[in-house]
Amino acid sequence: MFTKSAIPLLFNRHAPHLDPNSYIAAAQVFPMRLNSHVAEDLIDWSNTPQDPMFQLAIPQPAMLGPTDLQKMMAALQKELPKTDLQQIAEEIRKKLNPHPANQKTENVPRLRGEEMPGMQHKYRETVLFFPSEGQFCHAFCTYCFRWAQFTSVGSSQTFKSNNGEQLRDYISSMPQVRDVLFTGGDPMVMPARILASYIDPLISNGAPSHLETIRIGSKSLAWWPYKYTTDADAKEILGIFERVVKSGRQLAFQAHFSHPRELEHPAAQEAIRQIRMTGAQIRGQAPLIRHVNDSSQVWRNMWNLQAKLGIVPYYMFVERDTGASHYWNVPLDRAHRIFSEAYSGLAGTARTVRGPSMSASPGKVGILGVENVRGETVFVLKFWQARDPSWVGRVFFAKYDAKATWLSDLEPAFGEAEFFYEPRYKELTTLMKDGSSGQLLNSISP
Ligand SMILES: *Cc1c(COP(=O)(O)O)cnc(C)c1O
Repeated sequence: MFTKSAIPLLFNRHAPHLDPNSYIAAAQVFPMRLNSHVAEDLIDWSNTPQDPMFQLAIPQPAMLGPTDLQKMMAALQKELPKTDLQQIAEEIRKKLNPHPANQKTENVPRLRGEEMPGMQHKYRETVLFFPSEGQFCHAFCTYCFRWAQFTSVGSSQTFKSNNGEQLRDYISSMPQVRDVLFTGGDPMVMPARILASYIDPLISNGAPSHLETIRIGSKSLAWWPYKYTTDADAKEILGIFERVVKSGRQLAFQAHFSHPRELEHPAAQEAIRQIRMTGAQIRGQAPLIRHVNDSSQVWRNMWNLQAKLGIVPYYMFVERDTGASHYWNVPLDRAHRIFSEAYSGLAGTARTVRGPSMSASPGKVGILGVENVRGETVFVLKFWQARDPSWVGRVFFAKYDAKATWLSDLEPAFGEAEFFYEPRYKELTTLMKDGSSGQLLNSISP
């Protein structure tokens, strides 16, 4: 395991052409953690710093603004005490919108008046669950939208639960919930015995019959495929997936792949094969990230390779408005072009993918196109997911803006004062503050 203290050693061994001090400064602010698979097999050190896997796994100096970078480097050079360094890091983090899309306050479910810790219920059919033991990852992605929870600014607000029975009871009380998504961090850092303790109550006697799908969101196929091949509990993990399938439910493995290189590794391909043999279905999803995968060729190759390996391409996300988004973000217009160019080169069977998609507070908003409508250039947008299920599938229009990188940058087209969903959105967020997000969602008829 390599953390920020390993930077001098790693750089000395693999990348003597880079200045380690600026990277040490970046890693004071952003979490860093990588393992031997990432450091030795995935990163191409001869092509650093532009190598996409290096960009993905090692915090980059330009993720800090020039002033903050200089401040941190000066503090390190003066060898200030650790607490001083932490304080400088903390101030920088606070400026970086550590908790986007009001995740912590707006989607909290309640059961019999009691808040359900470690759960989010934003969309009627799906409950998110954050198991306590899964709130870290095999390696950290530099652009992670949950980056703050791996640092001190976020750790006090970490969202987690170790109560599998409570999860089952909550789902039992919500007949419109069809799937549960285990997320984190990465639930696949958990040993098989602990993963089983969460999943078994959902598939055994007394499990809610309306629960159809168990989803697991994970980067492990890219960061640590040995979890499914040679780790001591690999067989037991595959056994859990098989039990879910045998119970008559879908085990949906939502795999985070950022770059085709992650899929090219033989261990990843063997892990994919093992998981598919259990009857689980793997879907591929990732954000579009400048310096990592901002090229239509990369996405086209990745989706084609996914299709070949039996993975269903699912979402291309827009990088969220958090952390060093100034370093990673791609304007919506360019994101749409990259998506379209990649998509047009796929076979129909791989055109299951949707994107680019913004996971914003009102819902998941897709950018369908840029068109000229009676003299006005507009973005054509669509809700793929929404707080109010009646918005799903609705198409709406925003003024074209070449620089916009997020929904909040957009204004309604055709001279309208607000987007169609805004009055209801305001109403819902007010209701959500006092009540249970789940009850509210269930009260909205299908
Ligand atoms: C993306 C997301 C989901 C799942 O959405 P799908 O479109 O069904 O994949 C569920 N809950 C939240 C909060 C999400 O952001």
